[in-house]
Amino acid sequence: MKHRGIVWVAMLVMVLYLLIGKNYQEATKKFASDFKQQVTQVISNINPQKIIKNYQINTETSKATTKSASKTATPIESVVQGHSLANVYYYQFATTIPSHVKKVFEQAVREYNRTGIVKLVAGKGTQKQNQIFFSIYNKKMTTSNQGTIELGHGGPEVIQQTGVNAYTVNHAKASLNVRYAESVQLSMAVHELGHALGLDHSSNRNSVMYPVDQGKTRLSSGDLEGLKAIYQGNN
Ligand SMILES: [Zn+2]
Repeated sequence: MKHRGIVWVAMLVMVLYLLIGKNYQEATKKFASDFKQQVTQVISNINPQKIIKNYQINTETSKATTKSASKTATPIESVVQGHSLANVYYYQFATTIPSHVKKVFEQAVREYNRTGIVKLVAGKGTQKQNQIFFSIYNKKMTTSNQGTIELGHGGPEVIQQTGVNAYTVNHAKASLNVRYAESVQLSMAVHELGHALGLDHSSNRNSVMYPVDQGKTRLSSGDLEGLKAIYQGNN
């Protein structure tokens, strides 16, 4: 009899899992995807691996949210890990960028500047200085995208010069997919700029680096911790 009880519990768990799982798939239909670049590995387009990772993160989060919110730092992009980067960045805009999109990026810049951890300055910068390039693109989603909409991409590109004049810099990019009106919003710009500065996705819903856009525009304590780890700490 005891065994039968266990079977029923197992079935109930399975049914719940199927129901909840379905809802989560619905919820993840719209999310921001990523763009990652490395000196040795040039990926100029959306990384399919990342989409899968996004889904996994969401599933994990669905289980974790019933517990108290984790206070761990937002993870750091692997290409940035182990590098010591200056905290000053020079940013510029693509000439094709419409003024309303530019404004959104400028607001995102202010959000990071008010942390005091990084300093983003308008201008071109030199090859040996950190740079960020803001741009737009126009990508229509097809059925092969399985109902997901890519709203933007962004990421660091770490350049390491060895030898006598050794230096390490980040020449990063952040871009919004203007094909979809919902991409042009502060939460998206803050998220993509976060990638550019070296932050990876977080499974914490308070984070601006949560892979699904939730309209978050303020960096969480975990996001600040992640930034500090890159620019002030032992990363
Ligand atoms: Zn992302």
